[in-house]
Amino acid sequence: MATLDGLPPLRDVIQRFGLDARKALGQNFLLDLNLTQKIARSAGPLDGVTVFEVGPGPGGLTRAILSLGAKKVIAVERDSRCLPALAEIGSYYPDRLEVIEGDALKTDFAALAVEKADGGPVKIIANLPYNVGTQLLINWLMPADGQWPPFWESLTLMFQKEVGLRIVADEEDDHYGRLGVLAGWRTDAHMVFDVPPQAFTPPPKVTSTVVHLTPRQNPLPCDVGKLERVTQAAFGQRRKMLRQSVKSLGGEALLNKVGIDPARRAETLSVDEFVALANSL
Ligand code: SAM
Repeated sequence: MATLDGLPPLRDVIQRFGLDARKALGQNFLLDLNLTQKIARSAGPLDGVTVFEVGPGPGGLTRAILSLGAKKVIAVERDSRCLPALAEIGSYYPDRLEVIEGDALKTDFAALAVEKADGGPVKIIANLPYNVGTQLLINWLMPADGQWPPFWESLTLMFQKEVGLRIVADEEDDHYGRLGVLAGWRTDAHMVFDVPPQAFTPPPKVTSTVVHLTPRQNPLPCDVGKLERVTQAAFGQRRKMLRQSVKSLGGEALLNKVGIDPARRAETLSVDEFVALANSL
């Protein structure tokens, strides 16, 4: 059967290389190249862009990114079983795919950007393993070197829908919490489209969603550690009034310093108000 890009159908690839999905590695594969192209397209133009992909697996999304004209894909994959299938894609797109076998949580993406992108634009696109997705996002939002704007121009990432809702949530939204404050402080984040369970092999239990994030060029200055402390305390007891939930950080005195009514609750505070609180710690 012909495919969009002339490479073999993914179902055949999976069979030929024995890539039965492993739950422990969060493996839910996308086999429909129309869908993987739709995901890759939501990252915007890819011409001249070096794309970092996490968890390429059998390569459905990788193929889409390459067929849409990315300059190069640097893919980090933990499962060595996938490497021969990815090598086949690499020979079809000479010099444009580099696969690094390893754990994305231990990968220094900022250093990779310096090494691999020659100062050109970098975008991150991934159908993330659910068990590590949130931690990777936090790492990209809070780079160890404190550098902002970061090395990436955008993040286009698949999450469980419930996590996507938390990332894009604003105040007064049921899903607003620590993740929404961090993402809202440093990025403009929005949900692009949902992907139903049956689009994956094997299907996960819940609906997924693609989230697109671009860095805010000038987020309000704030110490990340302090922002973390404030959001943890405030949302740790989200139903309580702030005078109670941030008691250990200074309670009413702290809130009065920045003119926030101590009777308010965490979910009513805007990102800017959280930043003001953190800055007055
Ligand atoms: N991108 C493929 C697709 O869309 O069909 C596969 C997506 S699957 C949800 C997640 C992939 O991430 C798997 O290939 C899995 O082996 C890989 N993976 C899991 N944990 C990882 C980690 N810590 N670092 C790098 N890759 C990981």
